[in-house]
Amino acid sequence: MIIIMKTGYDRQELDDVIARIEEEGLRTHLSIGENTAIVGVVGVPIPPELQSSLETCGGVENVLRVTKRYKLASREYHPDPTVFKVRDVTVGGDAVVIIGGPCSVETEEQTLETAKAVKAAGGNILRGGAFKPRTSPYEFRGLGLDGLKILDSVRAETGLPIITEVLTPSDVETVAEYADILQIGARNCQNYLLLEEAGKSGVPVMLKRGMSVQIEEWLSAAEYVMAQGNPNVIMCERGIRTFEIATRNTFDISAIPVVKRLSHLPVFADPSHGTGKWYLVPSMSLAAVASGADGLMIEVHPNPDHAKSDGAQSLTFENFAALIPQLQSVAKAIGRSVGVETEVSIAD
Ligand code: PEP
Ligand code: MN
Repeated sequence: MIIIMKTGYDRQELDDVIARIEEEGLRTHLSIGENTAIVGVVGVPIPPELQSSLETCGGVENVLRVTKRYKLASREYHPDPTVFKVRDVTVGGDAVVIIGGPCSVETEEQTLETAKAVKAAGGNILRGGAFKPRTSPYEFRGLGLDGLKILDSVRAETGLPIITEVLTPSDVETVAEYADILQIGARNCQNYLLLEEAGKSGVPVMLKRGMSVQIEEWLSAAEYVMAQGNPNVIMCERGIRTFEIATRNTFDISAIPVVKRLSHLPVFADPSHGTGKWYLVPSMSLAAVASGADGLMIEVHPNPDHAKSDGAQSLTFENFAALIPQLQSVAKAIGRSVGVETEVSIAD
């Protein structure tokens, strides 16, 4: 249930509404806008008489029962887009955020070299997996804690915030000490205990869409993070599994505007995992920005032929740098900008 307060309500009226809800042993989530406030009721069961009781409270405009399985993540609850800062990078604002970096942190040199190339091209955030979910247990599974330490020192040297994956609830505390954004991977999209633990950490979370997860299920997974009091969730479309095998996954571009319509959360896209092929990454990146994506996550490697994971879908430094001005052109056409404007694009 959500309670929409009238324009010009006063604080006492809002406190009375909250007190009435808490009387029933329920909790509240507040979304305070410029002129109004929306109160979300959290918990079950909601007694049937509560709706009419709240409708008679002073300052209440409307009381709506939410039939969706998610509430905090819904547009109804929070009409304005969610915008938050990750260090000095604004997520969910007008500028499309560019995350670039290797699939896996392999060595300090490889990570630093890539971070410098990402930054020089206009990228905002460095990615790199230290804990890697791999299909086979015999594949490279990441450097673990040593990988986190490399990311930390590369952040210190380049100033780029870092995003890295957390695989298990018991690792959340450690990964959260290093990461500016916790990445929850496709394989863990519906690992509810992990989602809750990430929610409790208070660190922003990027939630990748599971490969067979429907949009309602995906938003409900985000709700697990948000219900722990962590509002800073990024949804990331990374392709779903279909009958088609010409690409690694089927990159569901339509999910971007669908999620943006249903939810206020920022929506990013990962055309690297979405396609599995480096030569498809530029066109799908452009399409994602044209479709309203608030950010892109792109795999970049100094030497894709020798990458320990996902080399086939990784861009070289040159290809990554060449893509950014193209993205800027598309973004400009829809009234947005991309990444950190380079001197060349400012002169344009
Ligand atoms: C990754 O980003 O390297 C990754 C493993 O992605 P996904 O969870 O989308 O497969
Ligand atoms: Mn990868």
